[in-house]
Amino acid sequence: MKLTAIISVIIIALTQSGCRRVEPGSVAAPQPTKGVPMSYEVEKSEQQWREDLTRDQYNVLREGGTEKPFTGKYYKFFEDGVYKCGACGEELFYSKDKFDSGCGWPAFAQPTQRENIEERIDKSHGMVRTEIRCAKCGSHLGHVFTDGPAPTGLRYCVNSAALEFNAMIGTEKKEEK
Ligand SMILES: [Zn+2]
Repeated sequence: MKLTAIISVIIIALTQSGCRRVEPGSVAAPQPTKGVPMSYEVEKSEQQWREDLTRDQYNVLREGGTEKPFTGKYYKFFEDGVYKCGACGEELFYSKDKFDSGCGWPAFAQPTQRENIEERIDKSHGMVRTEIRCAKCGSHLGHVFTDGPAPTGLRYCVNSAALEFNAMIGTEKKEEK
């Protein structure tokens, strides 16, 4: 009996001290993708986003929705240009990196710049995937998978509704001259 009491005291002591030590780390534990407090260069109230975006854009970009496969406007679209974030206009993907993945959504082998994309672990729908967001405004874009073509081996699977295509590529056009 005495031993049990001592053990319980030890366990309580360990648990409590352990809790305190674990606490700072537990704050960073994966959270639902929506509503995670973070600061971005472009920030608006949800009301403002709702006013600035179409219903489809808002559903994907701000609510993390996914458009139906094979339906997006850029799925079978291969013009030369740049794809910008539909919410803030940041240049995210070049057409030269777009490929036909057959998955039903626009797919890119790499972003314009790695730092333009924010990655988060997404454990929704019983899967563990890597969610991709615009690093400038935090809007949801899609997911990145490791079954892409060489040399990157990556497949940035992006919703058409999250993108805005622009036929002008400033940097590449300038280099031609
Ligand atoms: Zn953005």
